[in-house]
Amino acid sequence: MTSTIPHAVLIPEPAQGHVTPFIHLAKLLHRRGFYITFVNSEYNHRRLLKSRGPNSLNGVDGFRFEAIPDGLPPSDDDDVTQDIAQLCLSQAKHSVVPFRDLLQRLNTTLDSPAVTCVVADGVMTFAYKVAEEMGIPAVLFWTTSACGFMGYLHFAELIRRGYTPFKDESFLTNGYLETRIDWVPGMPNIRLRDFPSFIRTTDPDEAMLNFDGNEAQYARTASGVILNTFDDLENPVLQAMAAIIPNLYTIGPLPLLLAKTQISAPVIGSSLWKEDLSCVQWLDTKEAGTVVYINFGSITVVTAEQLKEFALGLRNSAYPFLWVLRPDLVRGEKATLPDDFEGNGKVVSWCEQEEVLAHRAVGAFLTHCGWNSTVESICGGVPMICWPFFAEQTTNCRYACGEWGVGVEMEGEVKREVVERMVKEVMEGEKGLEMRRRAREWREVAEAAVAQGGSSFAGMERLVHHLRTGCF
Ligand code: UDP
Repeated sequence: MTSTIPHAVLIPEPAQGHVTPFIHLAKLLHRRGFYITFVNSEYNHRRLLKSRGPNSLNGVDGFRFEAIPDGLPPSDDDDVTQDIAQLCLSQAKHSVVPFRDLLQRLNTTLDSPAVTCVVADGVMTFAYKVAEEMGIPAVLFWTTSACGFMGYLHFAELIRRGYTPFKDESFLTNGYLETRIDWVPGMPNIRLRDFPSFIRTTDPDEAMLNFDGNEAQYARTASGVILNTFDDLENPVLQAMAAIIPNLYTIGPLPLLLAKTQISAPVIGSSLWKEDLSCVQWLDTKEAGTVVYINFGSITVVTAEQLKEFALGLRNSAYPFLWVLRPDLVRGEKATLPDDFEGNGKVVSWCEQEEVLAHRAVGAFLTHCGWNSTVESICGGVPMICWPFFAEQTTNCRYACGEWGVGVEMEGEVKREVVERMVKEVMEGEKGLEMRRRAREWREVAEAAVAQGGSSFAGMERLVHHLRTGCF
């Protein structure tokens, strides 16, 4: 089809924390007149159809979904998060040919315009390379914070200077992680433990240390990198990053930018689990700022013992809580609360988190500090109790607590007394009041960033222009 309609192919890493911001971006581009092809893994495609219904992916004109294999063996249970390291390595090997075939098919089919640009996940550089080989302009979308991404960009240097891999296991506990690192541009106050967690290894072949480190290096030569953040939030690190990455597009927080464009139905959802829609109604029955919301995202796993300590700490705090217990949250078993547990709360297996965090009843968020969760908490003006699990969640935690003043970190073993004390501190203590004030301030700054004339609004305009013209 000869057409002047731009056609963007978006390909996220097939994990919830990547699919959601990619769907937001896809909707924004669609709104700006782009024909969209959204590429899922076959595994996730099946999950989306299951969670959202068989016709959920076909309802919008000019917005199609395609699926390619991830190369992993079929799983018995199609409702669990896949092993991220295996997934990354497998796709880099097995998804190249299917992606190339897909682009070729899209370019020869008569029912869509020719592909004019590709937006590839920052950890799917194989897709960027395929687009480049085929002469299609491409950009990378790193769905992390800027500070987390800067951490990945310095993995190679940490290895070169001998900070990682660690000499032996004792380095995990002997205070070594507290070592100050003062040479990462734009990040003067960080310690080794604030870097993405994959550096905590004694294994020089650690998959994610090498994989993420290499993928990040590739971004240095890419024609552009998109980030779901806003300039005022991460100004020093973004300024320093601009010297490393020539074309940065900061367009976050995406949920707010999307809300500004008032996209009307039909809605394309991105949840891989079916959402329990009763959460918002339940929150409607609660007073403002009285509910503790607990959700550890799509990948974090806890032990049965940790779950119990969280549960008892919450119960003892006496605050009402909304808790998302993902079915595969507990390592090796089904996530359930202790038998005799009587808490003042509601437990569901998945919710519409953006709506929950925007609800006036939510007073605190106990979170694993995934970047989307952090951004959504900032959009809702909600202070956080941070319990980072892995990847750049450790970096996000450092910034939420140390730089932005919106979080407190729960360190060490999970103990019910600590959970109770921290919940009370954030819900009713002096520190909690100050964190809430800061969180609301950040929400206002975020709103200004996505409003006309704001930095993210301008970033999106620039991105649209570049994707339309192919000139970066
Ligand atoms: N999410 C959701 N409902 C839930 C739990 C999570 O909609 O019950 C969404 C959440 O809003 C966020 C994403 O899943 O957009 C999780 O991404 P994040 O980066 O916070 O963490 P990850 O899952 O990658 O660890």
